[in-house]
Amino acid sequence: MSDTTVIVGAGQAGLQTAVSLRQGGYAGRLLLLGSEAHLPYQRPPLSKQVLKGEFDADRCTLRGADFLAAQEIEFRPHSRAEALLSDQQQLRLADGQLLSYDALVIASGARLNRLHLPGSELDGVFYLRTIDDALTLRERLQAQPQVLIAGAGYIGLEVAASARALGCKVRVVEAQQQLMQRSALPAIADFMRARHEQEGVAFHFGRKLAAIHGQRQVQRVGLDDGTELDAELVVKGIGVRPDLRWLEGSGLATARGILVDDQCRTNLANVYAAGDCAETQHPLYSEPVLLESVQNAVSQGKTCAAAILGQDTSYSDVPWFWSEQFDCRIQLAGLPQPQDELVVRSDAPNSMTVLALGADRLHAIQCINAPRDYMAARKIIALGDAIDRDRLRNPKTELKELL
Ligand SMILES: Cc1cc2nc3c(=O)[nH]c(=O)nc-3n(C[C@H](O)[C@H](O)[C@H](O)COP(=O)(O)OP(=O)(O)OC[C@H]3O[C@@H](n4cnc5c(N)ncnc54)[C@H](O)[C@@H]3O)c2cc1C
Repeated sequence: MSDTTVIVGAGQAGLQTAVSLRQGGYAGRLLLLGSEAHLPYQRPPLSKQVLKGEFDADRCTLRGADFLAAQEIEFRPHSRAEALLSDQQQLRLADGQLLSYDALVIASGARLNRLHLPGSELDGVFYLRTIDDALTLRERLQAQPQVLIAGAGYIGLEVAASARALGCKVRVVEAQQQLMQRSALPAIADFMRARHEQEGVAFHFGRKLAAIHGQRQVQRVGLDDGTELDAELVVKGIGVRPDLRWLEGSGLATARGILVDDQCRTNLANVYAAGDCAETQHPLYSEPVLLESVQNAVSQGKTCAAAILGQDTSYSDVPWFWSEQFDCRIQLAGLPQPQDELVVRSDAPNSMTVLALGADRLHAIQCINAPRDYMAARKIIALGDAIDRDRLRNPKTELKELL
């Protein structure tokens, strides 16, 4: 067992790794490095309860300083790792300090995709990734400005719903023809588009931002077809990707993210990766997957800890995710595959369930306000048993009957 484990990134995956190591009896030194000023915190409330003013920043904290001290987890804020010197089993921090490790866990999350447009430097242009972003944005939304959101992904749509709840006029500009294109099945996307429109959100599909105009402050946004829209606040929600720049030259194998096996091991000895930064060879899928979800970060954190402790576990959890927009709780489990048959069941008002059926097993569920379907389907997917397609197609069949 290692003597010193260094964890880069004090987010959901990094903290989970540290906690699981201690729970598993790890007696060595544990260093948890965070580049931000804050204690480890969760991000999902940022675009929901925090923006709406329902949560203070403190409620996002995952574990307090007392807990970390009691667990002998040495948490170091403002500590950005700048280079991995794998030959020497060392990390170099931004302040020049060198840290030696016996095991290293990279849990550095993802960085925002930036949109570089004329006018991007104007006051009123925002991104949302950190708690500081959320608190600044919240303050500005309280003045009920006209908001323009670039990108109809989950974060953009959650910001849209929160801004509407605060009384802002909201427009969303999306380059694709559908919202949540990357992960939502068409029936779910159409349902949520109608729900947003009912709540007064206006969409501009198939369009991109071309420029942001204003003197000092945002006043208008120009689209790529020449349309000009009034806006006082612009939120760019155009996705994230792992930050691999600081790992260049380290010998670490990367593609879209840091490549890991089902034990979160990288190609380098004693180096592991977990969470948004890890691209995983998942036993359920033929292609490596890059997942951005709390579930993935927590499960992989546990897997990293088990691997460091020398336990024989592997990461095979069915991926799941949720989002909240207005009165809709969207839940996804499993990953739909291109050849799947899609079965839409909507048995109650303001709810919908879509099942993605493979040749002989259930691949995925996506649903809105259907928690019972979701829980049952998640179990069916995890079991991986052969399915009765006719019964799954029948909206009268309760999914839990199939367990
Ligand atoms: C606004 C918002 C809403 C979300 N809502 C949902 C949701 O509803 N459901 C859901 O499942 N998921 C949601 N997510 C995604 C989820 O929060 C992430 O998938 C999860 O936080 C990933 O955990 P992580 O530990 O991999 O990364 P993070 O939580 O991002 O933590 C990584 C940490 O590493 C730090 N770091 C980066 N580089 C370095 C470095 N070189 N040295 C030291 N530290 C470094 C970062 O500053 C960061 O604090 C949301 C995300 C956001 C931003």
